[in-house]
This record gives sequence, structure tokens and C-alpha cells, in this order.
Amino acid sequence: MARVGILGGGLAGLCLSYFLGPDSEVLEKDSTCGGLCRSYKKDGFTYDLGGHIIFSKDTEILDFELSMLGDRVGRFYRNNSIWFKRRFVKYPFENGLAALDKEDNFYCLYNFLVNKPGPQRNFRDWIYNTFGKGLAELYLIPYNTKIWNTPPEQMGTAWVERIPKPPVEDVIKSSLGIETEGYVHQLYFYYPKTGGFETLPRTFEEKVRQRIVRNFAVSKVRRTARGWQVSDGGDEREYERIICAMPIFDFAAALEGIPPDVEQAVSSLRYNSLIVVMVGVAKPKLVEQFALYVPQQDLPFHRLCFYGYFGNAYVPEGASSVVAEITANEGDAVWSMSDAEVTRHVVDGLEREGFLDSRDVIATDVQRTKYAYVIYDIDYEKNLGIVHEYFRSQGIELCGRFAEFKYYNSDAVIRSAKTVAQRVANT
Ligand SMILES: Cc1cc2nc3c(=O)[nH]c(=O)nc-3n(C[C@H](O)[C@H](O)[C@H](O)COP(=O)(O)OP(=O)(O)OC[C@H]3O[C@@H](n4cnc5c(N)ncnc54)[C@H](O)[C@@H]3O)c2cc1C
Repeated sequence: MARVGILGGGLAGLCLSYFLGPDSEVLEKDSTCGGLCRSYKKDGFTYDLGGHIIFSKDTEILDFELSMLGDRVGRFYRNNSIWFKRRFVKYPFENGLAALDKEDNFYCLYNFLVNKPGPQRNFRDWIYNTFGKGLAELYLIPYNTKIWNTPPEQMGTAWVERIPKPPVEDVIKSSLGIETEGYVHQLYFYYPKTGGFETLPRTFEEKVRQRIVRNFAVSKVRRTARGWQVSDGGDEREYERIICAMPIFDFAAALEGIPPDVEQAVSSLRYNSLIVVMVGVAKPKLVEQFALYVPQQDLPFHRLCFYGYFGNAYVPEGASSVVAEITANEGDAVWSMSDAEVTRHVVDGLEREGFLDSRDVIATDVQRTKYAYVIYDIDYEKNLGIVHEYFRSQGIELCGRFAEFKYYNSDAVIRSAKTVAQRVANT
């Protein structure tokens, strides 16, 4: 049997096995690997679990991802927008001010320039301190409240370095209508030519295929004299070392002998679930953009992605698709809707805003994901500190978005897998 057991076959688990080599084995709950990076096909339409694109400031990892994909990947220009008061405002919002009404434009610019940062106790304070009242109230507060499904004053700031701070001259230029680009590391991005974002984990899976055990839902993990025993309730496997690359909640529930304070800290970690609705339309092009961000409170979705942007490998000839993302939590009003109800809700919203005519809809599909977004609530660092400390003391490595419980994109997951694999190989 392999020396290292990797629990979870998402991107993290597959990369770990790729870096660790034949002395590792991946246990995956589902019949398909890839986790959040998976793509879906319905009636000729291919789409992902929300807008997934390949980009990174970590050039070593970006180059590595691109070299793994080879000629399977294309390069695209980021022309995303914000759908604001029925008009397209260039993304990020502070780079598109000239598209606003003069009053809104002035409100954003003036308050950005005269802004006097106050105390910073939470994410809401950070937004006001960094962007000023205008940008905060017209876009950042409504959009973030929607995507996080959490009031910004209940969120911490441990993650905000991900949000670039705009230089003063860029905001002034944008207000006057002089072109500026904003986040340049995302100005061009990469996306697979066929098969959706899932093509990325597939490239790793192809290399480690013989080391994957599918349909193995880890339900019990216990320490033995030689290492660890991992079971799915039927089959049992033994390893010297284990790496958790599955959601921390399910891993903690499976692990024998976890102390009550750690159990409490794990259950206090907060996350959002996601509903994704794909709508296929018998019209060639709905918009020019790939992604639209939607702060408007009376629309259920916070982001729309248009897969026709990537050409006819993603939509049938003469058709197009729009994929709506809705943040939800199990048991809340949206989550409790049936797939048909949530689809109707989305199509109604799209029709009201003029994106489509419901008579042109030729395909729909719904995907629900329990663990989609890590919430950086006020107690995040305290609870995560307890959790990480305990697993470190047990010699159990955590790797990946919901194992480490960090807002990781695929590049950060690959970076973490490389680091963890090196550490495990050396001990
Ligand atoms: C809406 C959205 C948009 C995103 N956009 C981007 C983007 O534009 N660019 C980008 O690079 N990244 C993006 N990401 C992030 C990216 O999807 C994740 O970083 C990455 O997929 C996480 O991989 P992972 O392996 O850590 O976790 P997961 O994908 O969650 O994998 C965990 C795996 O564990 C398995 N598992 C669960 N329970 C068990 C069990 N009991 N036993 C065995 N296996 C189990 C699951 O089936 C799954 O395969 C986005 C994510 C979301 C949700």
C-alpha cells in the first residue's frame, strides 16, 4: 500500500499525488474527480461551477499551469463589466466611473478624494477607508453583501489584500473618461479551448489515474501503531501519513478522538453555498463580456458568465448561454426553492433586465455546491488558529480551499500542494 493517503480528489488532491509520485494514493468520494473545478454539459452547452478562469500573480505557478495544459488553453482579454442602473460599467468599478450618471460619478470621485480613513474594525470600515463613501455605497457594500450573504460589518479583513487598492490618478482618469485598466494581472486570462475549466484538473488526473480510488467517501479516520487507518464504512486502507484535501468539516467528523474545543472551532467556521443556474438561449450573442457583476439587490444573482465568449466549443452554433451564480445557505429561502423555481427566478430577472427573451430559452440546468466560499467572519482567525494548531500537532497536513479553509483559487491550491508535498516527502 502507498505510504501517503490523500483524502479528497479535487485539484489539491490530484496535484498532491502528482508532486508526491507513486508512493501516494487519492481517495475520492465521487465517481468523478475535480471538485469545485468540475465542468458540466447539457444539450451542447458546457459551463463551470461559477466563473472559473486561469490567472495568477504567482508567475511560477501560472507558467506551470499553462505548461500542463499545453495547446489545450487559449488566451482571452478581460472585458468584464458591472451591471449598474441598466448600463455596463467597466470592471473594476473605480475604473469605469465615466459610464455613470454625472451625479454618481461626482459622488464617487469626490468622496474618494476627500476620504479621511477612520477606525478599522471590520470589512465595512476597510471598504469606506479605502474607497470612500461613494464607491462604497454605490457598489462595494451592495455587491459584497450579496456575494458574501453576510453584512460587511460582520466580516474581518484577513483576506482584503486580494482586493487591489486603486491609485488616485487612475480614479481621476476613470472619472474623466480616460482609459485605465485596473487589475493588470487579470487583464489577460487563460481558459481551456474545450471541456471547460475541468480540463485543468484532468491534466493532473491523467498523470495520477492509477493512484485514484473513486467512490470512497472517507467516514472514519483513526490512528494506528504504524500510522493511520482510513475507512469509508466498508473498505479500510492503511497509510503512514495522511493529507486532508477534503472539506475540514467532513474530515473532523470522521477523525476519531478530536477534542471538543477543536470540534467547536471547526463548527464555528463559516462558509457559503452556491447555486449555479445555466440558461441556454437560441440567440447568438447576449453580451460582449465574459462576466458581469450584479450589485442590484432585487436580482437574485451576483454574477453572470457568458460562455459563448469562448466560442462554439461551449455553446451550439447560433446559440449562447448565461450562467447565474447565487450565494445561498442550506435551509435559506433560495436554497429551499426547487431547481425549477430557482431557474424561473433567474430567467425572470434576466428577462426584466433585457438580457434575453424567455421564449428563446432552449436549455436549463442547476448545480448546487455546499462548500463554495470561505467566509472571513470576525472570529475566523481565532477559530482557524485552533484548528490548524491541532492538526499540526497530530502530524496531519491540510491542503486546499476547504481543508485549509482559505479563499484559495486554483493557483494558490497548486502552490500549497507543492509546498505540502515537499514537506511530506522530506519527513
Ligand atoms: C464560484 C467559484 C469561482 C471560482 N473561480 C475561480 C477562478 O476564476 N480561478 C481559479 O483559479 N479558481 C477559482 N475558484 C477556486 C477553485 O475552484 C478552488 O480553489 C479549487 O477547486 C479547490 O480545490 P480543492 O481540491 O482544494 O477543493 P475541492 O474542489 O472542494 O475538492 C475537495 C474534494 O474532496 C472530495 N471529498 C469531499 N468529501 C469527501 C470524503 N468524505 N471523502 C473523500 N473525498 C471527499 C470532493 O468530492 C472533492 O473532489 C473558484 C471557486 C468557486 C466556488
